[in-house]
Amino acid sequence: MTSKDKKPEPNDSSIIVSRVSQEIRDISPYSVPRFDCKIRLDGNESPFSLPRQVQDKVDRVVKEIDINRYPDSEAERLIEIISRVCDFPKGGVLLGNGSDELIGMLITTFTSGTSGTGRILCPSPTFSMYKLTGLAMGAEIIEVPLDEKFDIDLDATISMIENNDPDLIFLASPNNPTGNMYSASKIAEIVSVAKGIVVVDEAYSDFSGYTFLPLVKECENLVILRTLSKVGFAGLRIGMLLARENLVSEINKVRYPYNINSLSQAVAEVVLENHKFVTENIQLIIRERDRIYKALSVLEGIDANPSDANFIFFRANDADAVFSELVERDILIRNFNRPGRLQNCMRVTIGTPQENDSFLSALGEILSS
Ligand code: PMP
Repeated sequence: MTSKDKKPEPNDSSIIVSRVSQEIRDISPYSVPRFDCKIRLDGNESPFSLPRQVQDKVDRVVKEIDINRYPDSEAERLIEIISRVCDFPKGGVLLGNGSDELIGMLITTFTSGTSGTGRILCPSPTFSMYKLTGLAMGAEIIEVPLDEKFDIDLDATISMIENNDPDLIFLASPNNPTGNMYSASKIAEIVSVAKGIVVVDEAYSDFSGYTFLPLVKECENLVILRTLSKVGFAGLRIGMLLARENLVSEINKVRYPYNINSLSQAVAEVVLENHKFVTENIQLIIRERDRIYKALSVLEGIDANPSDANFIFFRANDADAVFSELVERDILIRNFNRPGRLQNCMRVTIGTPQENDSFLSALGEILSS
């Protein structure tokens, strides 16, 4: 019997693990640290729950859902509403189970076949799922460091594009974790130079008030990603991809048939039809963000980056100590501290005015002790 013929013992996990692709074995998983804190300012979520009358409508529609049936595979009603709200043709809208799923669909569509280069380009630091999903699918990741203001280094990026011809370029603007938008003219230049697809991830664009959506009409290689997660509905897992219809119909081929569940479809329809409160909450978050940025800017030992998003990225002298002292005071933020560019870097999500006050006074106390 050759070793190939030998049947593995059922509990011999190393044999099974050896069948896991090397690319996946090399990945460190996306980790969401779990700390039981009362004030959670770590996930870039909205701190606001639904207003009473919207909650009542949600309760009514949820009661009527036939949970024994599959959801509408095409999420037709929800796409119609999104098309109206975004003023974009419905044939150009594709929904994902969060924009995370859409990132995966884009990578499958454009990098996994034989026709492309199998390369993905993104600035660094940025949202980790581009790299993580790309590596899992066997793509090569090209990272171009952002400049000292966390804007795109245009010369380096253009030369990487010209030398590597990436299938996909991911530009999160506003960027996570740095919070700033990239220069619009640099994004436009990249879209015009690239021969592959440029994805402008606008997960936080509701807080910047700036969108590249109108450019989709002129640019066949431009894809916009949006999400409901940052404006109050992270639990629904609804991501939106907006692009030319011919691109959307290709990407749609790799979509799982029932990727948006019935509850999420129904609830998203209600909240988008009643979205005045969403706009008001966004305005309040923007005002709070500007207030907190000002307060952080005068704190000794804190270097805050200007933000166009619903969070603020900052550097402390000793991020680990600040993090654990905040946790002790029941406040959770995100600690990115690791050697290199993110040394002592942290990110705080904008919460309710009371939560923000608690964060600011706790931080002031920690820094002065
Ligand atoms: N893009 C960016 C830039 C993000 O920061 C996030 C969430 N952290 C996502 C996409 C994923 O959002 P969703 O909840 O829609 O999967």
